[in-house]
Amino acid sequence: MLLDPRLDITFPPHRTHLPVDHEAIRPLWHCRSGCGIWPCPSERMRLRAAYDDDPVGLSVYMAGCLFGATGDLRRLDRCGMPRPDALFTRFVGWTRRDHRLR
Ligand SMILES: [Zn+2]
Repeated sequence: MLLDPRLDITFPPHRTHLPVDHEAIRPLWHCRSGCGIWPCPSERMRLRAAYDDDPVGLSVYMAGCLFGATGDLRRLDRCGMPRPDALFTRFVGWTRRDHRLR
């Protein structure tokens, strides 16, 4: 599937020192390791560690992922895509410092 070339949500190069086996498979936005929906708990922990000194950067990165996922999932199944509030919680809501990892 052709992805939107304007949306560059690749992992920042300076943050690639951690394993990436829980990457998202697009356009489904499922974990590459078979954990289910992305970001899975392992990926959330990896991202938290990678952005430990930049929580705003993590939220911005995940907002970009939310944008990409919204477009991808809408194209796949317009009627069956998750509700907007569920997508927000899944992609951005957990990035708050006071939000517990699930
Ligand atoms: Zn995973």
